[in-house]
Amino acid sequence: MHRLPALPYDYDGLEPYIDAPTMWIHYNRHHGGYVAKLNAALERYPDLQSLALEELLGRLHDVPEDIRTAVRNNGGGHFNHSLFWSVMSPNGGGEPRGKLLEAIERDFGSFANFRDAFTKAALGRFGSGWVWLVVRDGRLLVGSTANQDNPLMPEDVAGLAGTPLLGLDVWEHAYYLRYQNRRGDYIKNWWNVVNWEEVARRYDEAAG
Ligand code: MN
Repeated sequence: MHRLPALPYDYDGLEPYIDAPTMWIHYNRHHGGYVAKLNAALERYPDLQSLALEELLGRLHDVPEDIRTAVRNNGGGHFNHSLFWSVMSPNGGGEPRGKLLEAIERDFGSFANFRDAFTKAALGRFGSGWVWLVVRDGRLLVGSTANQDNPLMPEDVAGLAGTPLLGLDVWEHAYYLRYQNRRGDYIKNWWNVVNWEEVARRYDEAAG
């Protein structure tokens, strides 16, 4: 059984950048819905139930066709939101330090350049999707995926492969209550809650 992970802060923990009503609905209704539908899809496939979520998504081509789309959308939604909550913090914002900052400066030139590239990808994702910072073959890359796809899925499915370090939800459900259609304001404010310690921990883990 896949389970909704505990939110690492209160619903109002990311105020004023992300409002409490959005957090409540996003966590309970949206993320909760993905978990419930993923479990329902896997009900008839006990062998798949024991796989870690990351492994299940990586092996999407081996998932039986009758549940493949459900696993892609709801398994993707479960992974993406679990990561999203963890890479935000009431004490977030600022800039990364240490090895992660060095890698960002090496691969993007500067932290400001990285932020610009990430913001541009977030503004450029038409409709619903996610923006990612991933590490692949030791290099950092920014990219985006549609719907609930993510870089753990086969590249011919998601169009982006790598180990995700940071992800931003740009579905309207993530920002519409406070920002309406102003995705740019949501993105600009979101940088104030990025949990760079967690992103750095993920980088160190991926770099081995
Ligand atoms: Mn979402």
